[in-house]
Amino acid sequence: MKKYTICVCGGTGCLSSESEDVKNEFITLIEKEGLTEQVTVKETGCMGTCDLGPVALIDPDNVFYCKLKPEDVSDIINSHIKQGSIVERLVFGYDKDNPISEHDDIPFFKGQKKIALRNTGVIDPDNIEDYLSHDGYKALEKVLTEMSPEEVIEEIKESGLRGRGGGGFPTGLKWQFTAQSEGEQKYIVCNADEGDPGAFMDRSILEGDPHSIIEAMAIAGYAVGANQGYVYVRAEYPLAVKRMEKAISDARENGFIGNNIFDTNFKFDLEIRVGAGAFVCGEETALMASIEGERGEPRPKPPFPAQSGLWGKPTLINNVETYANIPVIILKGAKWFNHIGTEKSKGTKVFAVAGDINTTGLVEVPMGTTLREIIFDICGGIPEGKKFKAAQTGGPSGGCIPREHLDISMDYDSLIEIGSMMGSGGLIVMDENTCMVDVARFFLDFTQDESCGKCVPCRIGTKRMLEILERITKGQGEPGDIEKLEKLGKYIKENALCGLGQTAPNPVLSTIKYFRDEYEAHIKDKN
Ligand code: SF4
Repeated sequence: MKKYTICVCGGTGCLSSESEDVKNEFITLIEKEGLTEQVTVKETGCMGTCDLGPVALIDPDNVFYCKLKPEDVSDIINSHIKQGSIVERLVFGYDKDNPISEHDDIPFFKGQKKIALRNTGVIDPDNIEDYLSHDGYKALEKVLTEMSPEEVIEEIKESGLRGRGGGGFPTGLKWQFTAQSEGEQKYIVCNADEGDPGAFMDRSILEGDPHSIIEAMAIAGYAVGANQGYVYVRAEYPLAVKRMEKAISDARENGFIGNNIFDTNFKFDLEIRVGAGAFVCGEETALMASIEGERGEPRPKPPFPAQSGLWGKPTLINNVETYANIPVIILKGAKWFNHIGTEKSKGTKVFAVAGDINTTGLVEVPMGTTLREIIFDICGGIPEGKKFKAAQTGGPSGGCIPREHLDISMDYDSLIEIGSMMGSGGLIVMDENTCMVDVARFFLDFTQDESCGKCVPCRIGTKRMLEILERITKGQGEPGDIEKLEKLGKYIKENALCGLGQTAPNPVLSTIKYFRDEYEAHIKDKN
């Protein structure tokens, strides 16, 4: 008897299109048809194609069904499970002339390489046994029983992993600085305060593979000498909080956190702190202030968190995606990891692709993949045959990439060279009808609104820039406005206290750089 597992996506995207009803219909019909011995239904995290939800993958046939409704379930049971014939109308992208039915052959998935997302959409995040059957906690066991803390840090350094939260700072070096700081008490923090409009990489990992973050934080704790960790996650991610809470509780019950982990002297525990949704709390010093119960405002650096972080103690902060890479690096080795990607940007990067694009969703690709490959080969290009105009990476901190840079290598340094930045991985695609001055205004409006107001360049400077942009978009721009925007933008970048202000002018400056004619046209039209 052929056995099946029906994996139904239970990420926030699919749940919002009522995947719960689809999953329950599968369970009901399978029971009714007496197929419980043959078929298992499993709820997983996000499979990456949120606008196609609810989605389900039938294992071992590797068939990916999309846009499911409860009434479609009986067709899948009767045709696919009972007779072995796929239900073509429900298969993602099925084309009679070019019949691709297997999940791994679908262009959206074929071009991807999943490291950070390796378990997301594959395992049941609420089932620790499922995580264990996918090498879960083996990396923690390896470091505790076979490696010294120094060896762990060397492994991470050699891997070339850089922080996925935006800055791209070498992760191993950060670990080394924290390890070298004096202090009995040190802390590990996971920055899960993902706030870029359109970004949901971290949310999907927390929802779909929470144990990998717990495991990575415990490994980090061992490496730097910390025994307490905090996961700082925004309140807008209730499912991520719920799954993380259960995972922490299960990990504790099974001895993977707590005292004497793997019968060693190492102890490590974790707590969740729920943020109230201020964008600035994604900045590490503001985040720590918020954990301490203070108002979430940035603090000047130095001192850096590695020297003086939470409650003045040495603290290691990495973001969710950075941690998600750690267990694999430990198990497969630094050399395996640093063969993926480019010379200076190793491994993969997860992008949340949204906007004017045929298939939106999460895409994980090796660093160095071109923007063209992501947009056209993986995500199917621009709807209605329209032309690609620009893509915004890094959300409100990043910059736009125009058509002439479609073949840009998506890595930290190449993006900075053209005036954009990797950021945390938001990737918003715009077609030929998009007004780039409006785009710049949208992002600046967001950062201006989210400015904490602590320093003048950001508080007043972004407000003045926004006023100028608003009058330009209303057709009331004055000659000299573009130059004023450039001057103010440069000043704010150089003088703002934290990353929010230092990067806030990027969308404006990059759109002026590449689409100056649009600004000029707005102003000329008025005069
Ligand atoms: Fe606050 Fe902006 Fe200054 Fe950062 S740059 S401290 S967000 S006012």
